[in-house]
Amino acid sequence: MRQTLVAGNWKMNGSREGNRRLIEGIVAGLKGGVSTEVAVCPPAIYIPQVVELLQGSDIRWGGQNLSQHDAGAFTGEISAAMLLDYACRYVIVGHSERRSLYGEDDALVAKKFVVAQQAGLIPILCVGELLEEREAGETEAVIARQLDAVIEAAGTQAIGEAVIAYEPVWAIGTGKTASPQQAQDVHAFIREKLAVQNAAVADKVRILYGGSVKPDNAAELFAMQDIDGGLIGGASLDAESFLAICRAS
Ligand code: PEP
Repeated sequence: MRQTLVAGNWKMNGSREGNRRLIEGIVAGLKGGVSTEVAVCPPAIYIPQVVELLQGSDIRWGGQNLSQHDAGAFTGEISAAMLLDYACRYVIVGHSERRSLYGEDDALVAKKFVVAQQAGLIPILCVGELLEEREAGETEAVIARQLDAVIEAAGTQAIGEAVIAYEPVWAIGTGKTASPQQAQDVHAFIREKLAVQNAAVADKVRILYGGSVKPDNAAELFAMQDIDGGLIGGASLDAESFLAICRAS
């Protein structure tokens, strides 16, 4: 039985005051207990603040990105060791915004995955197709290519120690959600692809859905057999919305 996970990706949003209100709201809302694992991924500069605010709660935290390098002359970068210094459990790797806006290709994403995992972080590996790729019937080929790059670099076993997030690029921040069946089809494809190499890994790995998940569509997405929770962008910035999604998981 896979433990579901709802992870909030704050992207480049937040302020000290806003974060405090948001985290206090989430912590208070989860007091009664919730069966899903919950995590937040704030901008790196706010991780120390979030660590403090989350003391005594079961909520985990993580980074949104990391450098493929260990240390040194890489201005503006954050290393795996720095994330671990603040007890991060997770780090998002290969988010479509990193791929499209910062030129991160499959090879770099794979390298970051390996660096994160070897350091002791759990990568949340994002994969997903563009709208034109879906319309051209290339969804599975794109997902397979993105996964294969990581499998080649890290090995199939390593996937079992990570989290995968299927995030159709056309659904991120657009208000357009994949239908539960569209999402389930891709999640099943990912699991079947992994099962060919290692059935235990396929069964174990958590596959989250991400892309305009909101309180009103979360339950039907999470009800699908191969969807093990969500990676939540916009709706993770509002305590009530995020809590409703956590409860739906
Ligand atoms: C994301 O950025 O990972 C995401 C899923 O964003 P949103 O929920 O806003 O579509």
